[in-house]
Amino acid sequence: MEIREVIDYLKSYDGPQLKIMEVCGTHTASIFKAGIRSLISDKIRLISGPGCPVCVTPTAFIDKCIEYASMDGYELMTFGDMMKVPGTSDSLSEAKGRGAANIRLMYSPFEAIEKAEENPDKTYVIAAVGFETTAPAYGLMLQEAKRRGITNIRLVTALKTAIPALHWICQNQEDVDGFICPGHVSVITGSSIYEELSEEYGKPFVVTGFEAEHILASLYRIVKQIEECKGQTENLYKNAVKEGGNAKALAVIEDVYEPGPAMWRGLGVIDDSGLSLRDEYAMYDGGSRDLFADMELPEGCSCGDVIVGKVNPDQCPMFGTACTPMKPFGPCMVSSEGACGIWYRNVN
Ligand code: SF4
Repeated sequence: MEIREVIDYLKSYDGPQLKIMEVCGTHTASIFKAGIRSLISDKIRLISGPGCPVCVTPTAFIDKCIEYASMDGYELMTFGDMMKVPGTSDSLSEAKGRGAANIRLMYSPFEAIEKAEENPDKTYVIAAVGFETTAPAYGLMLQEAKRRGITNIRLVTALKTAIPALHWICQNQEDVDGFICPGHVSVITGSSIYEELSEEYGKPFVVTGFEAEHILASLYRIVKQIEECKGQTENLYKNAVKEGGNAKALAVIEDVYEPGPAMWRGLGVIDDSGLSLRDEYAMYDGGSRDLFADMELPEGCSCGDVIVGKVNPDQCPMFGTACTPMKPFGPCMVSSEGACGIWYRNVN
């Protein structure tokens, strides 16, 4: 089928109003970049989902990281996108400005191995945030630390898995008609993992790539399935996503982590949606299991509704005024994958 025919079909759609969720921020960014909304019917509404790991990381996690960054003998290692995420009173960036000096930006968790061996008297604490996509890298690092007998590394983890969150959306946001599955996560998990969701909720879950034609093709398949009263999993990204996923990465996840409850900022605790360190790696746990105390968003921030697609970012009263990427008020404005940040950069 030619892309022109796909666009004609999506543009001329005149059935019931549809809500289609793209789960990951990279798809959200691609939808803006390619102007997808202008190519489809007004009756197809695209909403963003909870696929930005930074956005759903709880306040208590940031507070714990700040605590480590303020302690003698500890160094907190983090990727740069965590620096501006609001904690209870400070972000890491603000805490650094106030004297919590032990913060190091990292490019790979493996930097901790080298540092830990060079400085045995210091403990390196890694802020581990992400989904199935990043969990294997932290896991490989811990496997290597264990192999080398390194004991001065800790992980504060807010690692999560996507499927339990999609169950949560299907159960709590019943008006979402279909899903563009998270692409990077799917490379690790595989496409067959979505079949349980399709079967249980009777909705289409379509795996696709990040180019405009990939996204349009997925929308076409979702709308077509809905019109034909089907709800199936389809994989349109077969050159990157295998049915069973990446076996090596899944083996690392299985070896290092076990499922546990996780706090999603704005959603609350979702059972079995977190990746906790297994007992064999418990010595590297920097307190991850205790981070359930606080699910609060800053007062006035609508991230909880943005994350589940109830409102678009520009419907938040703070959007573009009290909350901008230069001075973020809520977590969805901070990350390059956060819906508010993506909307701000593309709408303004
Ligand atoms: Fe929260 Fe800012 Fe987004 Fe509003 S614009 S929902 S305050 S992150």
